[in-house]
Amino acid sequence: MAIDRFGRNIHYLRISLTDHCNLRCVYCMPEDMTFRPNAELMQDDELIQLVKLFASLGFDKYRLTGGEPTVRAHIVDLVKEIAQVPGVRSLSMTTNGVLLKRLAGPLKNAGLQRVNVSIDTLNPEKFKRITRWGSLQDVWEGVLAAEQAGLLPIKLNAVVVSGYNESDVVELAGLTLEHPWQVRFIEMMPFAGATELQLNQIVTAQQIQERIEAKFGPLQIANGGKLDGEARLFRLSGGLGEVGFISSVTVPFCAACTRARLTADGRLRLCLLREGEVDLLSPLRQGASLDELRQIILDGVWHKPWGHGLADGVIPLNRVMSEIGG
Ligand code: SAM
Ligand code: SF4
Repeated sequence: MAIDRFGRNIHYLRISLTDHCNLRCVYCMPEDMTFRPNAELMQDDELIQLVKLFASLGFDKYRLTGGEPTVRAHIVDLVKEIAQVPGVRSLSMTTNGVLLKRLAGPLKNAGLQRVNVSIDTLNPEKFKRITRWGSLQDVWEGVLAAEQAGLLPIKLNAVVVSGYNESDVVELAGLTLEHPWQVRFIEMMPFAGATELQLNQIVTAQQIQERIEAKFGPLQIANGGKLDGEARLFRLSGGLGEVGFISSVTVPFCAACTRARLTADGRLRLCLLREGEVDLLSPLRQGASLDELRQIILDGVWHKPWGHGLADGVIPLNRVMSEIGG
């Protein structure tokens, strides 16, 4: 078991399969983003080796993310291999959904259990503006394909940005009246790359909730008031699905955090919003033994920071979100 010095049992690994992406969301990366050369990223065999190591340390929950995980070569085969590693109990993916129409069925058959799809607005023009060139139609068809394939429950993620989509939260929340989906609103976080927008155009979970309640009336607490991962869950009156708020900036959930991240270039990152990382890929490539690698992971986990420093103005600037794995 991997325990940190505050007694948290860290057993959830989010893996960035690639820093590459087929979109350029304004809150995530600059339009002229340059990506890492492939040789710097974990290769398939290295990734599987590391997943086996983490699984042997009690990590049982895995989420594949990026960048855009579906643009990674051989993604279906890779999912199949990860799903078969003993100890992998939960396997899900966060995706922009652009390629899901084609991939949802094959990914489900390969062992993927669930997807979270990012969709920040239901307005095609605004969707294009926020993603810089994305097609809402592609993503919507991807969501339906995921539902059809049984990648359930469907969770939709929306980052809310002032001047882009703050009024669209009402229509997005309204989806839960007719669909048994979880629509989750995420407070924008600051990283390198797009910091000015990230700092100046944040919309808080409180403001989002007020907009939704102005239209639909008071939200009802769901899930017994317990966090679902990082989300606080509610229902619209008469709704089939749930509305969630991920308020990482204004109400952090650090005490309940059980996660670590593996960056696309094989670094263990213990907090999304802290710069500290532990290199795993270099020792792996230099022939470190499995026991040595296990010890590096355990030491890294032990030193997992308690929480982020956004309230004190401490912003992680060494990477953009897509490299870390959101
Ligand atoms: N490309 C996939 C996608 O968009 O779902 C997976 C990677 S993306 C980095 C993972 C999640 O991080 C998405 O839900 C995205 O909206 C969110 N995200 C990206 N930049 C963010 C930021 N600055 N603050 C908060 N969430 C962000
Ligand atoms: Fe790509 Fe996801 Fe970042 Fe958008 S949020 S640019 S889809 S990695």
